[in-house]
Amino acid sequence: MRQYPKPLNRLINEFSKLPGIGGKTAQRLAFHVLSLSTPEVESLANAIRDAKQNLRYCSVCGNLTDQDPCSICSDPQRDPKVICVVESPQDVLAMERIREFNGRYHVLHGTISPVEGIGPGDINLKSLIVRLQKEPEVEEVIIATNPNIEGEATAMYISRLLKPSGIRVTRIAHGIPVGGDLEYADEVTLLKAMEGRREI
Ligand SMILES: [Zn+2]
Repeated sequence: MRQYPKPLNRLINEFSKLPGIGGKTAQRLAFHVLSLSTPEVESLANAIRDAKQNLRYCSVCGNLTDQDPCSICSDPQRDPKVICVVESPQDVLAMERIREFNGRYHVLHGTISPVEGIGPGDINLKSLIVRLQKEPEVEEVIIATNPNIEGEATAMYISRLLKPSGIRVTRIAHGIPVGGDLEYADEVTLLKAMEGRREI
């Protein structure tokens, strides 16, 4: 079978490493890149490099940011009494879209998953405990992990961890379908989930 030229194979190989990209899609993307003009390709390559170089995790909440602390943590208009715990920076964006939550966030970058060998020490959880000690004004922690097995286990773990501190721990409840992804929930569903949160 005829092989593609080496540089093309390399490009296809790089695309195929991306999540959700199979071999066929990787080929399609590679050929698409080849069809672009040189300035377009440079712009794409630069965007990838710049994002990697200029984005970091906020030292307070763990959200993805180009300034530290991030724009949410450093916003004096945000309510310092409430922290919403989410799994990923994408979930912060989803929550921000509903424009109802005015507290701040804590991004876990994952969930506890014994099956996959991911323990509490493997996610951004210790920094939440340290943060709560430094921020005595926090009265409520809303846990907005996804409503699947790992998300629920993580919520329960955090709830038990925080109980002795006397901080109110709530969990978003209604609206998000079981096994669903917060990131893809529509705004009304997410809003209902926030309104229906209950103490855990
Ligand atoms: Zn932050």
